Amino acid sequence: NSAHIGVTGLAVMGRNLARNLARHGHRVALHNRSAARTSALMAEFGHEGAFVPTETMEQFVAALERPRRIVVMVKAGGPTDAVIEELVPLLEPGDIVVDGGNAHFLDTRRREAALREHGLHFVGTGISGGEEGALEGPSIMPGGTPEAYAILGPLLESIAAKVDGRPCCTHVGPDGAGHFVKMVHNGIEYADMQLIAEAYDLLRHGAGRQPGDIAQIFRGWNEGRLESYLIEITAEVLGHGDPLTGHPFVDVVEDRAEQKGTGRWTVQTALELGVPVSGIAEAVFARSLSGSAALREAARGLPGPSETWLDSAAADRFAGDVEQALYASKIVAYAQGFHQIQAGSAEYGWQIDRGAMASIWRGGCIIRARFLSRIDAAYRADPELPTLLTDDHFREALGAAQSAWRRVVSTAAQLGVPVPGFSSALAYYDALRADRLPAALVQGQRDFFGAHTYRRTDRAGSFHTLWGGDRSEQER
Ligand code: NDP
Repeated sequence: NSAHIGVTGLAVMGRNLARNLARHGHRVALHNRSAARTSALMAEFGHEGAFVPTETMEQFVAALERPRRIVVMVKAGGPTDAVIEELVPLLEPGDIVVDGGNAHFLDTRRREAALREHGLHFVGTGISGGEEGALEGPSIMPGGTPEAYAILGPLLESIAAKVDGRPCCTHVGPDGAGHFVKMVHNGIEYADMQLIAEAYDLLRHGAGRQPGDIAQIFRGWNEGRLESYLIEITAEVLGHGDPLTGHPFVDVVEDRAEQKGTGRWTVQTALELGVPVSGIAEAVFARSLSGSAALREAARGLPGPSETWLDSAAADRFAGDVEQALYASKIVAYAQGFHQIQAGSAEYGWQIDRGAMASIWRGGCIIRARFLSRIDAAYRADPELPTLLTDDHFREALGAAQSAWRRVVSTAAQLGVPVPGFSSALAYYDALRADRLPAALVQGQRDFFGAHTYRRTDRAGSFHTLWGGDRSEQER
């Protein structure tokens, strides 16, 4: 009567994952540092499936069939290391430790290497979908060895969300690959949320629409190519009235966005890898700016444009333009995120299948969307696609959207509505497609003040101009 799998850490995520596993017919051993959570789970949900509650780590480990499958679902950081340290002496070679917490992929690489020394598998696993996803079917991004996935994968696939009958779970790649992909997923989530928020702001403070009307517009968009969980919940939030005051909910909430840090990790990692994820970076900065209360208070009186609203005819046409700009900017944000996955995969030798990542994000996770099938198709058509922007479908969509996109960005600038996501996405698009970039001038500046040298378009080699002398050119 050994348990098939164990879960230690039974706060919201661990509890719901354990219940999800049990509901799918797996016998689940339960453990939590403080036994109260274990008994609470048994009292409330013990009837849902076959649970084996345990009080000590020794009992927990002893309750599991071999090779053991142990899911650690504790607070990320120090607590994960503490639990691993307690577990390792009790385990035997071939056992599998799964970290389902929001770990940084570099920590996962370190832990994987350490456990490998003991003959143990360590599977850093990204899990998206929050509390509800954990129970009803999350998107699951496991790293680690193929050997570990062979033993663990079927259980994870059984509890993952399903789209078109396929589980939203696949082996991402070795060591930290799963947590890396989960990190980029969260970065893309930041960018997508920011773009949607900008679309709202333009309709509200450019076109003068009320939140209830904008909720209707979003519901309409959710019937088309923008169909996604984030658009759906945006319409819900915008349509909600505050029961206390009767005002739109969005007007009574403080306009300071918080963050837990995965967006920041994505940008920090992108900086290290040299990948321009401007949309994700703008989204992280926009949250920081919104939270800079003193700065905003000091700047409140700064002059703005004299025209701050569209006239009514233009306002009527505007929603269509904003939809185009949102779609185009969203393509750019995802293209940047997938570029980061490509770069991380190359840097760490992970061989990540980008189409498969788009496919497992179609259900269970926060960025789930119809659109992701397009990305999957793009990578299936060309696994080496250098950027999503040049895929036939996206190229065509961008071409059709670009005039509206430019109108929206210029209108926003004229009316003084801040759209860092829309405008940086357009700048990225224009920069990538440019024949010549002013980077040539930057190289000249660097060579002038620091003799940093430059390359020529017409000859191989590195060159330096004697700027302070006779301005002759030397090959370096
Ligand atoms: P928390 O992050 O709030 O962590 C609480 C759990 O960690 C409790 O079981 C607690 O035990 C345990 N714990 C804390 N410190 C220690 C320690 N030193 N030793 C042993 N156990 C410890 O729980 P969540 O369920 O919210 O999240 C779990 C993990 O999943 C986190 O890494 C989180 O980032 C990640 N995650 C969360 C999502 C969410 O929507 N909440 C979504 C996806 C991932 P005790 O009861 O004894 O205090």
